Amino acid sequence: MFEKILIANRGEIALRVLRACRELGIKTVAVHSEADTEAKYVKLADESVCIGPAPSGLSYLNVPAIISAAEVTDAEAIHPGYGFLSENADFAERVEQSGFVFIGPRPDTIRLMGDKVSAKDAMKAAGVPCVPGSDGALPEDPKEIVKIARAVGYPVIIKAAGGGGGRGMRVVHTEAALLNAVTTTRSEAQAAFGNPVVYMEKFLENPRHVEIQVMADQHGNAVYLGERDCSMQRRHQKVIEEAPAPGIDRKLIAKIGERCAEACRKIGYRGAGTFEFLYENGEFYFIEMNTRVQVEHPVTEMITGIDIVQTQIRVAAGDKLWFRQRDIEFRGHSIECRINAEDPFKFTPSPGKITNWHTPGGPGIRVDSHVYNGYTVPPHYDSMIGKLISYGDTREQAIRRMRIALSEMSVSGIKTNIALHQELMLDARFIEGGTSIHYLEHKLADRGEVKAG
Ligand code: ADP
Repeated sequence: MFEKILIANRGEIALRVLRACRELGIKTVAVHSEADTEAKYVKLADESVCIGPAPSGLSYLNVPAIISAAEVTDAEAIHPGYGFLSENADFAERVEQSGFVFIGPRPDTIRLMGDKVSAKDAMKAAGVPCVPGSDGALPEDPKEIVKIARAVGYPVIIKAAGGGGGRGMRVVHTEAALLNAVTTTRSEAQAAFGNPVVYMEKFLENPRHVEIQVMADQHGNAVYLGERDCSMQRRHQKVIEEAPAPGIDRKLIAKIGERCAEACRKIGYRGAGTFEFLYENGEFYFIEMNTRVQVEHPVTEMITGIDIVQTQIRVAAGDKLWFRQRDIEFRGHSIECRINAEDPFKFTPSPGKITNWHTPGGPGIRVDSHVYNGYTVPPHYDSMIGKLISYGDTREQAIRRMRIALSEMSVSGIKTNIALHQELMLDARFIEGGTSIHYLEHKLADRGEVKAG
């Protein structure tokens, strides 16, 4: 096992990784920007290194500063968390070339999955069902593009191969709008991702977002840890996640999960990963793979009892997976509410000093947050300040416990989206389960009209 790990991230995930390391008896190095000097997890770490000023381009994305922090502290491995450099193949390569272990997949796997066209090709070859669409990248010839769209059937969506974070996509409803949309998406993709390649998919009108968590070791073993439903989204950002996904046949989950695990074995995947799918009319359609730990990993931990971050670390150190697929049991239900420092109605960020921070507790409640009384939320980063996770024997119990937890939670000094979560935990359609990825946007639009009227 490693003696010392450098955590190349900040906020709640830095603390989450730190806790996993402490439980495994591994020393930790926290790297931080000048804006995070006072963060508690920085003080909890065995060592800390300031890697630059507040803007993440100068600190959390500063590869040379992170590598030299690992060198001066004699760390053996680097955990990238999520976001920042976690899916940057060049970074993973630099880490390994500098003699450290990258806690994640091999750089070439990250590269393969980072290009959505090559990822889809690989998944098709591995037998994972994909959204119908163009066979790879769209050609230059306009006549060919029109032909492909006719075959796929409108509406279609044009997507950038290098896209991410919900950017670089355009829905097309008619042939008249097609070629313009392709040209615009191409030039936007070139500007935003330095890669003009685009592809086409059938646009699914009312899908759910259901994803499969996988875990693989370096000895050819891979398992799936069930699914998560992350359909409650605003601007393609997840707001609430839960496991299992309500109302989906367990046999279908087992089938798709096994396909994902098999795809991992085929491509020599290592570590934790997530296959993201759209789910509509009883069918799964692969859209992309995330080659890192996800924000919403706790709901899977709650229903499987498997610590995903510790498993990431142990397989990176060369351990064989110590459980097989048939050992994994799915028990109960778990829900996660992302707590953001933002206005619950207008969604404008609300950084600043937290004058009072009271977190809930009790049976089945977990709080993953780096925040404390007197903490100042810096304006430079993502607005998520923590995650409230509930567990229950049933979905009903998990919802009830979440309601109580939200009512106990109290935050002053900044605005948070707790009020939105309270509203959603009482929402009839959410309680029923199985809402589509558009549900929250529609609900918010209606709410806006009610308020305006
Ligand atoms: P990103 O990497 O930018 O997150 P994804 O490919 O994961 O891009 O897609 C992000 C979101 O865009 C999905 O969660 C879904 O809401 C929407 N989307 C993507 N592809 C389709 C599609 N074929 N049909 C309908 N919606 C889609």
